[in-house]
Amino acid sequence: MLKDKAAIVTGGASGIGRATVLALAEAGAKVLVADVDEAGGEAVAREVNEGGGTAEFLRTDVAEAAEINAMVARTLSAFGGLYAAFNNAGIEGDQAPLAEQDMARVQRVFDIMINGVYLAMQAEIPAMLEGGGGAIVNMSSMWGLAGYPEWSPYITAKHAVSGMTKSAALEVAAQNIRINAVAPGPILTPLLLRGWNDDPSEASGRVPMRRIGRPEEVAHAVRWLLSDEASFVTGHIMPVDGGMLAEKG
Ligand code: NAD
Repeated sequence: MLKDKAAIVTGGASGIGRATVLALAEAGAKVLVADVDEAGGEAVAREVNEGGGTAEFLRTDVAEAAEINAMVARTLSAFGGLYAAFNNAGIEGDQAPLAEQDMARVQRVFDIMINGVYLAMQAEIPAMLEGGGGAIVNMSSMWGLAGYPEWSPYITAKHAVSGMTKSAALEVAAQNIRINAVAPGPILTPLLLRGWNDDPSEASGRVPMRRIGRPEEVAHAVRWLLSDEASFVTGHIMPVDGGMLAEKG
């Protein structure tokens, strides 16, 4: 159902974004891979193209409005439209009590994960309306629905993503654009390994399924939310967390 549809994946060079680029390409979508990591982004696009799919990489810092606009413009010119977007790029920020966080570094987390998703939707929605509709999935986190000590910049940003997802979804619900978010628990990626100092065993012990998730397990949820199979689903923040939020209530 995504065959020949144009899609954008921010943060598509690594981890969950990379797995989603591959999953969307497998479904026949043409994918614009947007990331600051040029080597990683080029490699993912090459992998798709060598496998018979269609992908292009564009270096994009999602904190910069001009680069977000260029990302959407390139998708329109390369693929003739925009139908699907996964606004996923993110960083973990620093671990420290809120009172000790360095505000310049906190602002960078907000610029990438709050402004980056907000600006992306600002550019994507008009492009989708032009083409008659589309679907957006934003990357929140289970920590966009619950609190956790010492990671307040990240958790603040993810709560903001949950809020802007619901608000934007309501604005365009009658215009054939669906907007949802995914809320993963711990998923084995470079970001997770950095956050747990390369030892994620403690993280897996907290998951009711007693394991860490794989990037593909989130990618498949994103692909479903972007597809027509989710045609009556909008404004939803979908946990993909091995049961963690069920336990939190
Ligand atoms: P990752 O580090 O493998 O991937 C993140 C990607 O974002 C990288 O390719 C990085 O280069 C890119 N990026 C960073 N800053 C950018 C910027 N300014 N502009 C464009 N691209 C930028 O990590 P991941 O775990 O795959 O993270 C992807 C998203 O998933 C993040 O938003 C993260 O918060 C979220 N998430 C991850 C987990 C987890 O456990 N791994 C859980 C919940 C949510």
